Amino acid sequence: MSENRILVADDDPTTRLLMEAALTKAGFEVGLAEDGEQALQVFRDGRFDMVLLDVDMPGMDGHAVCAALRRRCGDALPIVMVTGMGDTASVEAAFEAGATDFLAKPISWPLLGHRVRYVMRATRAAAALRRANARNAAMLDAFPDTLLRIDDSNRIIELRAAPTGVRSCCMPSVGETLHEGYPLAVATLLAQALAQARHSGQPHTVDFALDCESGHPCHQEARVSAIDGGEVLCLLRDITERKEYEARIHRLAYFDSLTGLANRRGFLERLEREIRRAQQNGWRFAVLFLDLDRFKSINDTLGHAVGDALLQQAAERLHAITRPGDMVSHDVDGLGTAEFARLGGDEFTVLLPAITRPEDALPIAERICSSMSAPFTIDGQTLGITTSIGIAVFPEDGKDAATLIKHADTAMYDAKANGRNGCRYYNPALTAEAVHRVELEAGLRRALANDEFMLMYQPQFEIGGDRITTVEALVRWQPPGAALVPPLEFIPFAEECGLIDAIGAWVLRRACRDAATWMQRGLDLRVAVNLSPMQFRASGLLDTVRDALAASALPAHRLELEITERALMADDAATHATLAALRTLGISIALDDFGTGYSSLSYLKRLPLGKVKIDRSFVSGLPDDADNLAIVRAILALARTLGFSITAEGVETAAQATLLGSLEADSLQGFLFSQPVSMQEIERLARRS
Ligand code: C2E
Ligand code: CA
Ligand code: CA
Repeated sequence: MSENRILVADDDPTTRLLMEAALTKAGFEVGLAEDGEQALQVFRDGRFDMVLLDVDMPGMDGHAVCAALRRRCGDALPIVMVTGMGDTASVEAAFEAGATDFLAKPISWPLLGHRVRYVMRATRAAAALRRANARNAAMLDAFPDTLLRIDDSNRIIELRAAPTGVRSCCMPSVGETLHEGYPLAVATLLAQALAQARHSGQPHTVDFALDCESGHPCHQEARVSAIDGGEVLCLLRDITERKEYEARIHRLAYFDSLTGLANRRGFLERLEREIRRAQQNGWRFAVLFLDLDRFKSINDTLGHAVGDALLQQAAERLHAITRPGDMVSHDVDGLGTAEFARLGGDEFTVLLPAITRPEDALPIAERICSSMSAPFTIDGQTLGITTSIGIAVFPEDGKDAATLIKHADTAMYDAKANGRNGCRYYNPALTAEAVHRVELEAGLRRALANDEFMLMYQPQFEIGGDRITTVEALVRWQPPGAALVPPLEFIPFAEECGLIDAIGAWVLRRACRDAATWMQRGLDLRVAVNLSPMQFRASGLLDTVRDALAASALPAHRLELEITERALMADDAATHATLAALRTLGISIALDDFGTGYSSLSYLKRLPLGKVKIDRSFVSGLPDDADNLAIVRAILALARTLGFSITAEGVETAAQATLLGSLEADSLQGFLFSQPVSMQEIERLARRS
């Protein structure tokens, strides 16, 4: 419906006539009134969309009529006052009375229609705007969310709390910037969301948690939408309930409600993550599959309630065994992060992340077995149960989660078939190897505690004088009631499992003590002790050496340390510092196994070495092997140029001894002269020579 009815009130008949003509011509319907009272009367009777009021009328003037109409119709009715030219006072009075606009006389009749139409449109637009504002305000009032208006410097310039919005303790204040109103992490997150919304013009949603006064975290969702000129609207919603609900669903989906351990799905996902991590880092890890032996019969005879309680206690024991604080020895490194799951029934799995060697899993598995075999007390009854465990190792026994679990399961059946209450690797050779290593390590610890090591000495004879100058200490292990174990069968293993330092320290102390004894008995012998590369790099080496010398009162020049080229490979500050410190103590250093080719000569030249020992492998082919002969010749020439004294080891034949003598080695060591022998035997040999 078009709005085109206009009421014209003017006491001047000419003006009325002209106005009516002009407006009618412009397409309006016109109602006329001669004075104020009549204007109100006519307005009441007809429906008008606009009123043109002359200011000066007899009786009720235009201002009074305007005020009356405003009172009646509110803002929606456009009222235009017609004033005399330059009558600014009456223009002001007109606006005070509520006029929409004014027309000054003389009136331009041809333009009157346009002017009127413009005023109508403007009034309509203003009305529409007022309505829109009211609508928005109503909408915002009805909104469940807390609303922030934020300016281009991320300062909060308006805050509209909602009864259902976020709690007031978790809300910033007007005037604060995001960084003043929120903890740093949240402020940063919100600032990023704001920047994205401003940049893209698209709404952006983030969620975060705040520590609320209630002591519980308050989860909030912020929806951010750019207004313009950098201003942003941010709607905050409390989503704590939803988050708690999600967490509950997650617990239900990924955890076993009986024991609180991860369930199959949770374990599978954890395993997938571990596989990715292990692949990226070239790590190993192990999956243990546990099955309680004869659980079914307990469940069947004593009932499910007892069975459930047993499973719960079993889960608690698993936790207890592998709590970080409970670690018994270093062989369970990384165990603190072991993770458990109950796949269902009486089947449990354990993930042992980042093990170095497959056999690292065995001690843990055995510990689980022995812990499970202690009696359980349920409702006053004592139940005995044992566990069988299968072990699969990534990547050897499977490269995906399903295969690893399947193979650990297979290994578990193998353990059951082998008499239960035991552990088995999926790879049978690994079981044997791991058992051997576990026994070896325990044996070595026992050997250290019970003093089962002993030293043999092999003499080095000076060429020409045939005098014994130095004897090399060689360690052996004498387990009670078993054969002597040669060093190559346990030294490399001791290096791997970290026992070499303790064994090496024992060797040093014993060798120094024996050498001091020889000295007291008037023998002029120097003792040579082998150092493993790991000992050489260990931080406690100097202390160990000093202690051994002090405890035996052996002068430092009677101790020689044999260090392999392998140990000196790293041409770094630490290597040089250690060598220099040893030299300062007065100890001489021999380069063992020389010629095996780890280091360049220019490098060796810079080291404070007194002696090199030509490796047995070069001597063994002599004198017939032309290649070895050439090498030995070269090594000898070289060592001589560098000013080293030379010992050849592994001399087994007289021909070798003659040849090495002619090549000007300084001393010889080998079975031709003597096997490694006891310290008493050394004393006899030394007195004879
Ligand atoms: P190595 O330092 O090269 O020691 C020499 C080895 O050669 C000794 O073996 C010795 O018995 C053997 N040998 C000596 N003369 C002959 C010979 O004429 N013919 C042959 N075929 N062999 C000969 P052993 O005692 O079995 O020691 C083996 C290795 O174990 C040593 O090699 C050394 O690397 C290591 N080792 C021994 N004792 C210790 C120790 O106290 N600490 C450390 N870290 N390593 C040790
Ligand atoms: Ca040696
Ligand atoms: Ca050697």
